[in-house]
Amino acid sequence: MNYNVNEKGYYGEFGGAYIPEMLYPNVEELRINYLRIMQLPSFKKDFDSLLKEYVGRPTPLYLAERFSAKYNTKIYLKREDLCHTGAHKVNNTVGQILMAKHLKKTRIIAETGAGQHGVATATVCALMGIECVVYMGEVDIKRQAPNVARMKMLGATVVPATSGSKTLKDATNEAIRDWINNPINTHYIIGSVVGPHPYPDMVARFQSVISAEIKQQLLEKEQKESPDFVVACVGGGSNAAGAYYHYLEDENVGIIAVEAAGKGIQSGESAATSALGKTGVIHGSKTLLMQTKDGQITEPYSISAGLDYPGVGPMHAHLFTSGRGEFLSVTDADAMEAGLKLSQLEGIIPAIETSHAFAIFETRKFKPDDIVVVNLSGRGDKDLQTYIEYFNL
Ligand SMILES: *Cc1c(COP(=O)(O)O)cnc(C)c1O
Repeated sequence: MNYNVNEKGYYGEFGGAYIPEMLYPNVEELRINYLRIMQLPSFKKDFDSLLKEYVGRPTPLYLAERFSAKYNTKIYLKREDLCHTGAHKVNNTVGQILMAKHLKKTRIIAETGAGQHGVATATVCALMGIECVVYMGEVDIKRQAPNVARMKMLGATVVPATSGSKTLKDATNEAIRDWINNPINTHYIIGSVVGPHPYPDMVARFQSVISAEIKQQLLEKEQKESPDFVVACVGGGSNAAGAYYHYLEDENVGIIAVEAAGKGIQSGESAATSALGKTGVIHGSKTLLMQTKDGQITEPYSISAGLDYPGVGPMHAHLFTSGRGEFLSVTDADAMEAGLKLSQLEGIIPAIETSHAFAIFETRKFKPDDIVVVNLSGRGDKDLQTYIEYFNL
């Protein structure tokens, strides 16, 4: 079975480009050009050099000995938390800013929820001296003041989205509206493996540096390229796509995706799309999404803003329905405890998104000689206030 995108932009039955006609020229320009540009020697050279010199790659693959001992298996951590700006998101924004330059775009727009993707976008725009406009829900602007300040300090304009629930979904709608109005000079940097084709594939390719490095690093440490399992948390699914990418066709490697159950799958306050979602269209892509009986998108909930999304990217919808991926979900409470555990066993404070991935070891058992790689998607600095309030620190 093929788990990658086909030439029509589909992963199995999921994906495609379900977009308003007004957006067609923009998306089509990108679709026609993205693979060609990514394969240019000059593009590869710039991308590799920025990942190395600016982002700080390769990130270490670290054997977590105390965490491994606790769960009686061999657990490696892929340290995306050590990337510049504190998470994997910058791998994608570096790639897309170079893409925008090759397409001769002079203005960047982005949507952001918690502000992590907005910060990663504002960062690369500052680096390149390109105008940057970030759409963010009015509610999120209030909740995520430090990231709003970061974006402004980096020179970006933050525009509040004031419609609907005033959160990520509404910010995305505003960004799409902007792109329709500015088709010639503007590139839209989407922050995960979501959106119309070619975005899910393009973002997965930029993030695939994660599994390319894991292969090489495991070869050095374990004399083989493949682990028994790769574990990652899934919001839209970009850090997971990057960690799985070079193992998709190798069925000896178990793929484990961890979603946010929020207050519990049946609580009505959850973001566990694989458990609760049905096929539908969101942000230009056919995928699994949480919706009411008559097809209205359900408001998701998770303590971690990065997992608080009502859908998953089409690659993950296909990994789920085909059975290639094992999908687990973790509640707020279990994620928070796991974050505390990793901090105190390894001296690494993870982002709350990532804490979800660490919580599975309480219930999902592995063999003592299994090699399990967990993608440590980001660091917990941005979440300190949430940890403080939760644990009364
Ligand atoms: C944004 C974010 C996520 C969720 O996004 P994906 O596209 O699913 O990777 C996960 N972890 C961290 C640290 C994030 O910032």
